[in-house]
Amino acid sequence: MSKRCYYEVLGCSKDASAEELRRAYKKEALKHHPDRNQGNPRAEQTFKEVNEAYQVLSDEQKRRIYDQFGFAGLEGAASGGPGDMGDVFSHMQDLFAEMFSGGPFGFGGNRAPRRGGDLRVQQRLSLRDAAFGCKREVVVHAPSRCDDCSGSGAAAGSKPEACSACRGTGQVSTARGFVMFTAPCARCQGRGQVIRNVCKSCKGEGVIAKPRKVTVNFPAGIDSGQRLRVQGQGMPGPGNVPPGDLYVEVDVEEDSRFERDGTDLVTRVNVGFVDAALGAEVRVPSIGPETENGEEPTLTVSIPAGTQSGAVFTLKGQGIPRLDGRGRGCLIVVVQVQVPTALTSRARELLTMLDEELRLGAEDAEGVSRRRVAASSK
Ligand SMILES: [Zn+2]
Ligand SMILES: [Zn+2]
Repeated sequence: MSKRCYYEVLGCSKDASAEELRRAYKKEALKHHPDRNQGNPRAEQTFKEVNEAYQVLSDEQKRRIYDQFGFAGLEGAASGGPGDMGDVFSHMQDLFAEMFSGGPFGFGGNRAPRRGGDLRVQQRLSLRDAAFGCKREVVVHAPSRCDDCSGSGAAAGSKPEACSACRGTGQVSTARGFVMFTAPCARCQGRGQVIRNVCKSCKGEGVIAKPRKVTVNFPAGIDSGQRLRVQGQGMPGPGNVPPGDLYVEVDVEEDSRFERDGTDLVTRVNVGFVDAALGAEVRVPSIGPETENGEEPTLTVSIPAGTQSGAVFTLKGQGIPRLDGRGRGCLIVVVQVQVPTALTSRARELLTMLDEELRLGAEDAEGVSRRRVAASSK
């Protein structure tokens, strides 16, 4: 059987960019993944081809050799060979970690997984906790490794034994004519092991359903939709396989005082029309850090005389800290000038007088004599 060209396998042109190759690989790998095509040996074959193609084309040096010399150029160059499924799966896990999470045995089928499945939980944080970072105990409702049998499923003093039907491989092969068919072993359900003396605590499962707490450090500047990976806190793997990872997705609560835009915060502040006209010191809410006495922190902004509604003042370094620790964004203060509504008759009188005064002042500015206007209006 002649080998298909790597570019053809991924459905890419020869001048495809690294990103195009990555996307094509992801698409093809998902399509032919054995978990989605159980009992279809053709899909597994294609899946291997796809992985091999990507392993070569994603490596700049190997790709150059392949472009120049074809398959012959690569022979003997790769140690171990690109067809090794074990490597393929560890490679896959990085790329699709969350897509195939959930099951305690990670990848399905009849081969032993390298580690347990990944888990995903959501954690809500207040805007301030997200801004300045915090430590939280996240409760994970998922099976944990059984302590009584260390996850083996076998009662104390005993061990799981290699399955005699499949000699511990988890697979049995049967010949039909010239073709060999391989299927998961029925006696051990493909685990390769049988437990004679079952652990009473976990009934031989090796895992127990009990919520557990995981302490997670949320870094300053984290935002909604961002994910933290806590290594080794996912599902326990069967036997001695290491556990998967825990992904904690952050959901930042709304704060009525602020709108967040990346590392910038926008706050709206009401200013009386007299203050806006005369200029004033205005207190605006601040994200913090929190004050020692537990009061909400504020900042003072000087509003110059003649400030209009909608005017914007930018306070540098008063926004959200950047995730990389390099300073903070801005606090953007938007002024909303308040017009008085409940007027006493005296206030109304004063406002009318003020209006006349302002009108005269405006005419003055246009060069009209104030005295002449006053005289002619009598
Ligand atoms: Zn077996
Ligand atoms: Zn147990």
